[in-house]
Amino acid sequence: MCGIVGYVGKSHAKEKVIDGLKRLEYRGYDSAGIALPIDGRIQIRKHVGEIKNLEKIIGAPEFDSAVGIGHTRWATHGAPSDVNSHPHGNGDNSIAIVHNGIIENYQEIKEWLIRDYGVNFKSETDSEVIAHLIGIFYDGDLLEAVNKAVAEMRGAYAVCAIAAAEPDKIVAVRKDAPLVAGIGKGFNFIASDIPALLKYVRQVYLIENNETVVLTKDDIVIYNEEGRKVKRDVFNVTWDADAAEKEGYEHFMLKEIHEQPKGIFETLTRRINDDDSINLDGISMTKEDIEGFNKVYIVACGTAYHAGLVGKLVIEKMAKIPVEIDVASEFRYRDPFVDENTLFIGISQSGETLDTLAALREAKRKGARILSVVNVVGSSVARESDDVFYTWAGPEIAVASTKAYTTQLVCMYLLGLYMGRTKGTIDEAYYHKVLADLKALPDKVTALLKKEDDIAEIARKYHRREQVFFIGRGLDSGVSYEGSLKLKEISYINSFAIAAGELKHGTIALMEEETLVFALATQDFLYEKMVSNVEEIKARGARVIGVAKEGRTEIEKVADEVIYIPDCIDEVSPVLAVIPLQIFAYYVARERGCNIDKPKNLAKSVTVE
Ligand code: GLU
Repeated sequence: MCGIVGYVGKSHAKEKVIDGLKRLEYRGYDSAGIALPIDGRIQIRKHVGEIKNLEKIIGAPEFDSAVGIGHTRWATHGAPSDVNSHPHGNGDNSIAIVHNGIIENYQEIKEWLIRDYGVNFKSETDSEVIAHLIGIFYDGDLLEAVNKAVAEMRGAYAVCAIAAAEPDKIVAVRKDAPLVAGIGKGFNFIASDIPALLKYVRQVYLIENNETVVLTKDDIVIYNEEGRKVKRDVFNVTWDADAAEKEGYEHFMLKEIHEQPKGIFETLTRRINDDDSINLDGISMTKEDIEGFNKVYIVACGTAYHAGLVGKLVIEKMAKIPVEIDVASEFRYRDPFVDENTLFIGISQSGETLDTLAALREAKRKGARILSVVNVVGSSVARESDDVFYTWAGPEIAVASTKAYTTQLVCMYLLGLYMGRTKGTIDEAYYHKVLADLKALPDKVTALLKKEDDIAEIARKYHRREQVFFIGRGLDSGVSYEGSLKLKEISYINSFAIAAGELKHGTIALMEEETLVFALATQDFLYEKMVSNVEEIKARGARVIGVAKEGRTEIEKVADEVIYIPDCIDEVSPVLAVIPLQIFAYYVARERGCNIDKPKNLAKSVTVE
């Protein structure tokens, strides 16, 4: 979901739109474009890559108009390329649109438009259908045509449309994707996000779901779903540009922590059909392929590797297939046992992680089947894979990954369930039980996020500790590694994760008064063992913060603090257990005055060895 900017005024729309797009650059995007009605025709200019590439092709200053729409794209359907960039036009460019979101039934609409109207599609995007639909319905009234087009569309969208025959207006509509109208004097704006407008306006209308807006230079008219005019209160923006980018959160990391319910929901719903089967649309792995794999190899770096640690246990349990896991920088140099019966799963948020890419190439050379789990459509890892399982976390800006991790976990579950059901290694009752718990996650994460203040309080209490351990057993062990990494990368505290049962084989020697230990005890069948581990640690004087499921209160007797997560089956608890660890790391780093979104020595996407 990326950026939209539209301007209606007397002149210089191009400058205003480009300016607004630049304000949205921080969100990340893969291409940018602009459409301007000039002399009875809509001129579209678009380019893959940064806005500065677009600026080179948008012509002289006089090549301008009074109205314009622009877009920065975060590809979901079709790789980043000039032709897939927005705006999209209908056949003769008498209509142009920009779109944020996903049109779920675009394939159906596309087939229909080709069959009945002989429409010639230029791009691989879902969005292009919108331009053609409006074009077909257009009969001199853009608002009416947009309404008719919307009636055909399913999915999430914010759309802005212009028509060559009505060069003084923009019509916009939204459903489950943000849209705001900026109120000027003699000009008006429309945008996906407030920061795009702040240089020019401070008063906005927040557009609600299923509303349509018509903007002319002197008027903004909002219509509800029934076509009736709505009166909206003016919203005065008091934030500065910096706060607006973060939607009022102090840091991107905190904003992204709070976006997890949405990312998890999106990742799940894209893959679960109405009849509760899992769809692997766009993934060509057949039943025979799945039955033919004798090994899975998960390879990744950093946080993605930690998602893999959980993935290993989940896939082994559900698909009854041995899963090896390795960090990419090791895998690529050690001549691993990989052959044509191996399923290689590479996990990377950016899809540009160099070590993961090199590992993937190595596995491919040895004949493995390559499946990647990535967040960026058209990224290098995605392009070089046989199949891609996309996470739908949306752009992640903070260096410390949060929502990418939880959505990667969701992919691991869906893969495990799919493979297990296909192979018959799990029964129907188990399949539906896990699926039901997965579907409940967005609400449970939302409930857990309400404990932010309590967790912040714990963070304030312990933020001066210089040595922190994270321990757990089974799936909790994988989560421990992620909790420890989160803390060290943003707060620079020396933190360390270890399987709880391993403590007594050496590391327990480090336990002393000043040590802080996070003990994850969310696995019911390992709960008692974890409580015993906590007792051993307490006997050495260390402080312990327990993380347990609601109702499992035994741990209160031994731990100094306990953070409860909503009840769930053991399998899916990592998605919940990691949330308090993210929040703890965030508030510790904040107390210590660290640069949370851009920690020292770290980069968001590691494209070097
Ligand atoms: N689904 C559209 C595409 O892939 C829009 C992506 C966006 O929201 O930027 O082109």
